[in-house]
Amino acid sequence: MSTTEKLRDWHELRLDSHVPITVATKNVDKFREIMELWGSFLPAVKIAGPEYPDVEEHGATYEENAVLKASALADLLRGPALADDSGIEVDALGGQPGVVSARTPYAGAPSAVRNEHILRAIGTRDRGARFVSVCALVVPGYQPVIARGEVRGFVADAPRGGRGFGYDPIFYYTPYDATFGEVDSSRKHAVSHRGRAIRELQAIIASLVTR
Ligand code: IMP
Repeated sequence: MSTTEKLRDWHELRLDSHVPITVATKNVDKFREIMELWGSFLPAVKIAGPEYPDVEEHGATYEENAVLKASALADLLRGPALADDSGIEVDALGGQPGVVSARTPYAGAPSAVRNEHILRAIGTRDRGARFVSVCALVVPGYQPVIARGEVRGFVADAPRGGRGFGYDPIFYYTPYDATFGEVDSSRKHAVSHRGRAIRELQAIIASLVTR
């Protein structure tokens, strides 16, 4: 779609409950979480196929990157697409790695390397941190629908737990006295950044669905 084309207000959008929303990701862990959070809500979600290209995430914000990913897929499919852009922000690191969480310390680094990198960078400083997720639903011709979720916690002293993915083993959530790597997915989803963003997005979508 041309960027100069005037997009209609998303409030005018009508979604068919029978037309699935395709999720713009190649990250199977992220998709599994979105599926679990989505539940039986209609329209259903499905993961993008191999036709989904590698989208360069050059945006400065989660919002920009989520819209970049969802728009690329929506334009390709000529239908509704959803993307999550997320990251961990560490207070002592000035909010880094943030939008470049997936590429820190280098693109393709395994989770264990990324977690060690954060632990080393933070040293003995303040351990406050948050996870942020921004989800964008894009339908060609309309402005994107955006929902954002955050959860605050602390960087643990060392990785703990084999559940979840990415930075979960080093994200300590005080009310659970556990890292996200130690709790089952339903407990994570109840409070997580992605849980909050997806629930907010579903509340908006519910008002746009035709049966
Ligand atoms: P992106 O949204 O594809 O740019 O990647 C976000 C990156 O942030 C992921 O690859 C993870 O490393 C990290 N991340 C986002 N959400 C979570 C989460 O729920 N748990 C652990 N790590 C996460």
